[in-house]
Amino acid sequence: MNLKNSKFYKRIQELRRFSKEKIRKDREQRTSVRLDMALSEQRPGHDSDLEWSSSPRRHISPRRRIKKTKTKKKSAGSRLTAGKDTVCSSPADGELQPDDGIQSYIQLNDKCYRLSCTRQLAGKDSRVDDSSISEAKSAICVSNSRYAMIGKISKTLGYKLVKETKLWNILWSDSFPGVELFKNMKRFQQINHFPGMIEICRKDLLSRNLNRMFKVYPHDYKIFPKTWMLPADYGDAMNYALTHKRTFILKPDSGAQGRGIWLTNDLKTIGANERLICQTYVHRPLLIDGYKFDLRVYTLITSVDPLRIFVYNEGLARFATNKYVEPTPGNTTDLYMHLTNYSVNKRNSHYELCDNDDCGSKRKLSAINNWMSRHNYDVKEFWTNVDDVIIKTVLSAWPVLKHNYHACFPGHDKIQACFEILGFDILVDWKLKPYILEVNHSPSFHTNEQVDREVKRPLIRDTLSLVSAVLADKRQIMREDRKRVKQRLLKTKGESLQRPRANGGSSIGKPKIDVEPEEELDSLAQQIAWEDSHMGNFRRIMPPVDATKAEYYSQFYGQTNQVSIFAETAASKKREDLARKMRLQIEEKKAKQELMLNGRNKTDKRKRQVVLLPRAVREKNRVQLYRLQEHWVPGFISDAEERLRHTWLQMRSEAIRSLRITESVYATLYEAGNLSNTDMAVYPHLYQHLQNGFDIKQHI
Ligand code: ADP
Repeated sequence: MNLKNSKFYKRIQELRRFSKEKIRKDREQRTSVRLDMALSEQRPGHDSDLEWSSSPRRHISPRRRIKKTKTKKKSAGSRLTAGKDTVCSSPADGELQPDDGIQSYIQLNDKCYRLSCTRQLAGKDSRVDDSSISEAKSAICVSNSRYAMIGKISKTLGYKLVKETKLWNILWSDSFPGVELFKNMKRFQQINHFPGMIEICRKDLLSRNLNRMFKVYPHDYKIFPKTWMLPADYGDAMNYALTHKRTFILKPDSGAQGRGIWLTNDLKTIGANERLICQTYVHRPLLIDGYKFDLRVYTLITSVDPLRIFVYNEGLARFATNKYVEPTPGNTTDLYMHLTNYSVNKRNSHYELCDNDDCGSKRKLSAINNWMSRHNYDVKEFWTNVDDVIIKTVLSAWPVLKHNYHACFPGHDKIQACFEILGFDILVDWKLKPYILEVNHSPSFHTNEQVDREVKRPLIRDTLSLVSAVLADKRQIMREDRKRVKQRLLKTKGESLQRPRANGGSSIGKPKIDVEPEEELDSLAQQIAWEDSHMGNFRRIMPPVDATKAEYYSQFYGQTNQVSIFAETAASKKREDLARKMRLQIEEKKAKQELMLNGRNKTDKRKRQVVLLPRAVREKNRVQLYRLQEHWVPGFISDAEERLRHTWLQMRSEAIRSLRITESVYATLYEAGNLSNTDMAVYPHLYQHLQNGFDIKQHI
């Protein structure tokens, strides 16, 4: 039977048409409400008067979310509160008055802004036309991400999955994209990485930045264990080791997943030219059930200028799998006791998978909070300290982040061009003091265990709900851009298209776009309102809700005035010296090679001169050589000598095999990240084993 001819099918089609028609009519009749917002800079002194407040909301898909924009924005104003007093109370739904004015003050970085919101009935002139946004479906490109979950969640939120070549709104990539991509981004596009975030995401750069800040603010920046970058700081580290009896942890400068990490009490064992990060070992960590653990705190940055940081209330605690004992020379090699990396501990047979909150080698932050409450720790104060560590870590790279952002996106005026989820690894000591160990710019979104799914899925969902990609009207921006190009081509008289930008950012090859400062502030106000009303399970830590805290952090923005991040430090001088020495060595080598080549050329020339003998002589020589070759016989080969040679060769092969020299060299190259493609192709089995985490030096 043809289903399409059935009565049932026809009836369904009829009902669908009917409901569509009804929705269309409803839409036409409904009075649309728009929210007009403007930010203007205020003189200092007002910042403490008023502040924002927000409450977690349930998830709404961007598609539905956009359709609800009108109603949401209607209520956005009502969420503005002033310290104790509410600035403006929202009238009941339907009672909207034509020019409801809301005013508030917000502190952004070190400046205070006045925010004014005006509600207007549709039809009146409004600078923000949300009706056009509602028609477009946001598109996301996840083809550069290995996590299928991102695409799936985006789909459920109403995003359309597209290829990188299409006009996406959001590009989600696991790796850091190239500058070329930044350069070509449209004003409605967002990407999940900030240019320059590497400043805190590489161990060596992070320690350089934190050390620099520690020198200027010694009381505020005690947020990380004492760290030295070897070989530049070798002397300092040795001096410290002489006066302090401590255990040190040594890490490769750009390693991850616990690879190449070891503990030592004796720094003399380290070569003076080894490139390593040396850190004092936090020897009395907080223990739960006798195990050491660290915290993975997910942090979302939605803007660097002004700095806006959100921390996810749920996260992971990763446990070591052997009970902790303070380091002694006998136990420093027990990585299952001293390291808390999942990639290390999953190899231990004691790794515990558990669906219950209070057991297992991976637990939720909420379970840790419960444990702390049960043991009478002040959970609120602890998290305030963690937030402080996160803010200060980001602030240590703020000048670079700000500079890079403005250089890459001089015309991105509608929405922020970037957002980023960072994974902060925090170690807690027995006094509940948090230390920053590392920041990951692409934290793992693998969902191997139930606990991963429970944490990471909502995290992605809340992130995609919070980011302001939907606030940009793709079509309108495209129209504007086309118009601009047209104008530029026609070189419209009297109109300069390249007016200097308000923030004075320099571009990287992009034509500067005419951006009105007020327009930019309007967009910023919209972004702030959007983010603060779509926080889900995030909490905003920057700008802080508390005005005194905002004032406290504002001092760190001025770091460039006190010590330039490009200024020379003793370590940087040493590093430069080392680099200069290496450069000289390389140049010397090159010169030698060239000399040899030139010398050879000279001898060639000489030879040619010698060869250029009279023809008769040359012919005579040739005949003589031929005769010699004809009568050439091999010399005597001693059998005994030959047997000995064979035996030695066999012994050598046997030694290489039994001492696992190939495996050791291969593993060392792998750990140092120096394996070439050929190495991977020639020894695929070794590479496979290393990838699976086996220790090929010991077994296999
Ligand atoms: P990786 O990037 O290789 O994971 P980390 O710096 O995160 O390197 O260190 C790996 C593990 O080593 C951490 O999870 C932590 O358990 C332990 N660790 C690192 N630094 C210290 C330290 N200073 N004190 C105590 N434990 C540390």
